[in-house]
Amino acid sequence: MKAAIYPGSFDPVTNGHIDVVKRILKIFESVHIAVIKNPEKMPLFSLNERVRMLKECFKDNKRVFVESFDGLLIDYAKKKKINAVIRGLRAVSDFDYEFQMALTNLKMYPAIETIFIMTDHKYSYLSSSLVKQIARMKGDVGEFVPKNVKKALATKRRK
Ligand code: ADP
Repeated sequence: MKAAIYPGSFDPVTNGHIDVVKRILKIFESVHIAVIKNPEKMPLFSLNERVRMLKECFKDNKRVFVESFDGLLIDYAKKKKINAVIRGLRAVSDFDYEFQMALTNLKMYPAIETIFIMTDHKYSYLSSSLVKQIARMKGDVGEFVPKNVKKALATKRRK
C-alpha cells in the first residue's frame, strides 16, 4: 500500500510518535500525520502549535505530510482516499479503547483498515501526558521529546 494515515492528538509529539512514523515508512511509501483539531482531552498546545512542531520534526522527510482534521477520522480518510490507519500500541491499557475505535470505524466505513504498530520497548512508558507532567514540575524532558518540543514546553511553562 502506498499511503497511511497516522492520527492523534500529538499534544505534544514525543520520541515515541517519531519512532512509530519511522517504522510506518518501512511499510508505506508515505505517511499523513493527521492532528485531531478538537480532541476530547483539553490540549496544552493549540492545533497550530501541534502541527508546527510536527512539521519541524519532519521537515527533511518528503514522505511525511503533517495535516489536521476536524470531525470523523473516516471522513478525513475518505476525502484523502487513504484506507490504512495506523495506531500505536503501548500497554494492554491502550487495547480496549483502540479495539473499540477500530471496530467502530470499520462498521461505519468497511473499506478502512486499522493497523497497529507495537511500541519499541524503549518508548513503551512514554506518553504526551507524562511529558507534560514532567515539564510542569520543571523536570528534564530532553530524553523524551525532540529539541523543539522541549523548548516549546519550557516557553509554555513560563507563560
Ligand atoms: P490520541 O489522543 O489519539 O491517543 P496520541 O497523540 O496520544 O493521540 O497518540 C497517537 C497515537 O500514537 C496513538 O495510537 C498512541 O497509542 C500512539 N503512541 C503514543 N505514544 C506512543 C509510544 N510511546 N509508542 C508507541 N505508540 C505511541
